[in-house]
Formats: sequence, C-alpha cells, structure tokens
Amino acid sequence: MEFVKLINCMRCGMCLPQCPTYKETFLETASPRGRVALVRKFEEGELEVSEKLLEYLSLCLDCQACASACPCGVNAGELVAEFRCERKSEQGLGTMESLVLRKLLPHPDRLEAATAPLRLYQASGLQKTVRALGLLKMFPSSLQRMEGLLPALPKAPLRQTIEEVTPARGTEKGTVGFFLGCVMSLIFSEASLATVALLSAVGYRVITPKTQKCCGAPNMLGHDMDGLKDAARFNTDLFNSFEVDTVVTDCGGCGAELKKYGHHLAGDPEAERFSSKIRDISQILAAESETLQTMLKPLPVAVTYHDACHIAHCQGIRSEPRQLLGLIPQLDYRELPEADACCGSAGTYNIEKPEMSDRVLSRKVENIRKTGAQYLVTGNPGCLLQLKKALSEQLPEVKVIHLTELLQMSVDGRY
Ligand code: SF4
Ligand code: SF4
Repeated sequence: MEFVKLINCMRCGMCLPQCPTYKETFLETASPRGRVALVRKFEEGELEVSEKLLEYLSLCLDCQACASACPCGVNAGELVAEFRCERKSEQGLGTMESLVLRKLLPHPDRLEAATAPLRLYQASGLQKTVRALGLLKMFPSSLQRMEGLLPALPKAPLRQTIEEVTPARGTEKGTVGFFLGCVMSLIFSEASLATVALLSAVGYRVITPKTQKCCGAPNMLGHDMDGLKDAARFNTDLFNSFEVDTVVTDCGGCGAELKKYGHHLAGDPEAERFSSKIRDISQILAAESETLQTMLKPLPVAVTYHDACHIAHCQGIRSEPRQLLGLIPQLDYRELPEADACCGSAGTYNIEKPEMSDRVLSRKVENIRKTGAQYLVTGNPGCLLQLKKALSEQLPEVKVIHLTELLQMSVDGRY
C-alpha cells in the first residue's frame, strides 16, 4: 500500500456526514477518518491484524462517498479494500471462494448453466409456493435474503440471444463495443436490450462479443486480485481486437471496474487504451441528446433518480442521467434527497452485513417516499436488485427501472 495515500488524511472530518455507516452509528471506527487511521496504525506497526480490526473495516460499504467529499483526495473505501486484498493474498482463497471466483464467474456458459435451476424454480411456480408456505424459514438467513432479492428472471440470458452485431438505424455514425455485465445479461436483459436499441437508434453499430467475461468486480469484492487481473487481461485483449473507439456499458459496477483496468495492469498500454474507451451509457446518450430528443414522446409521470455509488462516486457521472431525464417531454422530475447516498446493496454487503445494510436502505426508502415519485430510476444492477425488493414491500406504488428502460418507454410512447 502506498503510505502517502494514508498520510494525506488531515483528519478534517469533511467526509463524516457523507459516510453511511458513520451516519448510522456516529462511531469514529465506522467513519472514513477512523478507517484510514486504523489502516495507518497497522502500516506503522502499531496495530496487529485482529478479529476486531477486520470487523471494523468490514463494515465499510466501499461506496466511496468519502472520496467525493475529501478535499485531500483520500479514498478511504479504496484504502480499506486494498488492505483487505493484501490480507487475502497472504491467506489465499477458501475452497468456496475459489470455486465461485475462479471456476464459475470467469466462464459465462457455466454461470448461465448455474442459474438455469433458478429459472425453473420460478417458471414451475415453485417459488410462489415456497414463499406462500414460508418454507424459506427452514434455510439459513443468508439464503433467505438471496432468494428474496431474486426478481422475475428473463427466459434466457441476453448473451445467448443478442446478435453479435446490431446495425445502426439510419445513417451510421460509428461502431461501439457493448460490455454485457453478468447480472445485466442474466437478470436485467430487458434493460440491456433497451440500451442496445437506443445506441442503434442514435446511429451506432453495436458489437457485443459473445466471449466476453465478467469484469472482475466480484473478484475485487472477494479480495482476489489475481482473478481480477486475469479478467482484465482477457477483456482488454478481446475488445482491443475490434475496431471500436468506445466500449459502452449500462452497468455502473462494471463501468467503474473496466475504467480501472489501466491501474490494475499498471504499465500495460493496451489495458490503459481499453480503459480510456469505457463510457457509461448515460455519457454516450447525453452526447447524442439532439438526435435522441427527436425520438422521445411525452411521459407524464413523476420520476426520481438514485445515483449509484459506482456511477456518481466512482465515475463522477451525475449530470448526464439527469440531462437525459430532462429531455423527456412532460416528465415530472423530482430530485431525491441524499440521491448519491448508498442504498446498502454494495455487492454482497446486503447478504454479509444485513443489519447495517437494512439501516442504510431504510434511509434511502424514506427519502424516496418523500419525493412521491412513481418511478425510481438508476443505472446499476445491484441497486436495482436491492431497491426493487425494498420498494415492492414498502412502497409498492413506485416502480424501479434502469435509465435506458425509461428512455425506451418514452421512445415507444408507453407508460
Ligand atoms: S479522509 Fe479526507 S475528508 Fe476525511 S478526515 Fe481525512 S482528509 Fe478529511
Ligand atoms: S467507502 Fe462509504 S462506507 Fe466506506 S468509509 Fe467511505 S463513505 Fe464510509
């Protein structure tokens, strides 16, 4: 770890009001400043790795809201993640972690096969029966939470059904690559279909290489740097083999990770070239506002927007999604209080730290309630999973959708 990143913290506390875990606990050990101090004490040899230290650090959501607030450029979330990665590389991966991170995730065909039983579980009506009879109570709470997050799955993953080349509609402006996130392809394929349709509608030919792999974000979450670097090398070589200046993604988490390939594979100019091509879908569509606006039909509905951490804090994208919503005729946009506060999803945090995740989520739900919106729009699959479940239970009148789904609704004139 670069020590300079730790000593840059001048302990001003400007990050504290932005940190979701500090806002819930008011504990210094659950604040960015406290976490930086703990890691620094360890690096200086004044603190040993202990259960307590790991527990304090594991409460960090890695939402990076602290980095957006820090005047000294300190990123406590990233420093904590780096610290945990270094400990993991000393210990090695456990059997289950190795199975998921090395044998399953880097193989899209295996991943898709592994989710096939879930489709059957839903299509056969078994899920409804299991839920109605409360049978899930017989299983561990982590499994109950995972099952509860599962929305209706599409008939097939998008990777299996999408054409490798989608032509531009009208005059072709150029060709872009499309990075299919695993969760977007497996669960939110409707949103990614809308993404590709919009890119085509504004004049781009879209190449979606079918052999692409998971971006490696789960490896980062699992503190598996070697697995992450393997993913980075593979996707870099694959996309750089196509003649595209831009690679688009509609998954905030993937976008944030893909933009860091140049950092993960430091010194590799090809990885830097690949990272420089990555654009969130909101960036490329906002740049095509003039063309897009001519296609949009009125959508007289009340809409609010949740800034996914991976889009707002990790990529610094805030204005483009709002700019796009502002293009839709008759749309009643309502700004969400604390719009860029984490929803508590944070990868697998909502399974591993259910109590804190629920506390962070409650605050988000209350803020959404205050807007009176009919639609909550966001751009990251983790947030979609977390907020779909929460709002279906607590605010069923609010629909949760991806930005491109709402734009496509306006193009189609349906709501
Ligand atoms: S991390 Fe940044 S904002 Fe937080 S106390 Fe340190 S210098 Fe201040
Ligand atoms: S990453 Fe999020 S949870 Fe972690 S210290 Fe920063 S603001 Fe707090």
